[in-house]
Amino acid sequence: MRVSTRWYRWLILICSFLLLHSSGCAYRSARTITQVGTFHDLSAGGFDGRMSCRRLGSYGNFGIGTFHALDGEMIVTDGKIYQAKSDGKVYLPNGGTTVPFAELVSFAPQAKLILKGGANYAAVEEQINKAVPDRDIFCAIRVRGRFSKMKIRSVPAQVKPYPRLVEVTNHPPVFQFDGVSGTMVGFRSPLYAGEITVPGYHFHFISDDGNSGGHVLEFAIESAAAEIEECDRFLLITSEKGLGGN
Ligand SMILES: [Zn+2]
Repeated sequence: MRVSTRWYRWLILICSFLLLHSSGCAYRSARTITQVGTFHDLSAGGFDGRMSCRRLGSYGNFGIGTFHALDGEMIVTDGKIYQAKSDGKVYLPNGGTTVPFAELVSFAPQAKLILKGGANYAAVEEQINKAVPDRDIFCAIRVRGRFSKMKIRSVPAQVKPYPRLVEVTNHPPVFQFDGVSGTMVGFRSPLYAGEITVPGYHFHFISDDGNSGGHVLEFAIESAAAEIEECDRFLLITSEKGLGGN
């Protein structure tokens, strides 16, 4: 009787492991956006980190977000997490740094568009909308190349009681570059998802030299291409509680 109980426990343990392992793979499956936190919470001042960068990295190699206390803009590309702070410099956060909001994919683009020289934000949106006309589909988008103009912002770390997001982003530090090579990392999200994530287009930028980055306000293309992955799955993680913590 004792032996069979022991075997039963082992069976439960093995099944649990297989289940966790397989669901872990599912999170990283193609065409899936994994998001930590909601834009609703972030807008209301929910700036406390809820997942570590170490763990976040297991959900994808490409994406954007912010850090605990709203300490800068996050850019994730080629599996590397960058923290563009309000001093205009870019840092590499350690694995224990936490994030209140981020969205990631394992980037596998299905389409590539050569963007028109001189195109601004609105013109690039129009070009991508023509390529992916169904606005109810989430897209992960990478724009790589040379920009004749890149205007970005970052946000300074906040202290409690946290203000609403809009109070911080109304007067942020803004940086403008006239001629810079780099990568815009971002998403196009359906308007219906506005409480969950940022609706419409949302890009962050990192320069090729890794020295400059932030949330994109305006840009103009000199010579660049957009790679697009249509994502038809969305995994929302509101809290790490119950998943083994950070
Ligand atoms: Zn942003």
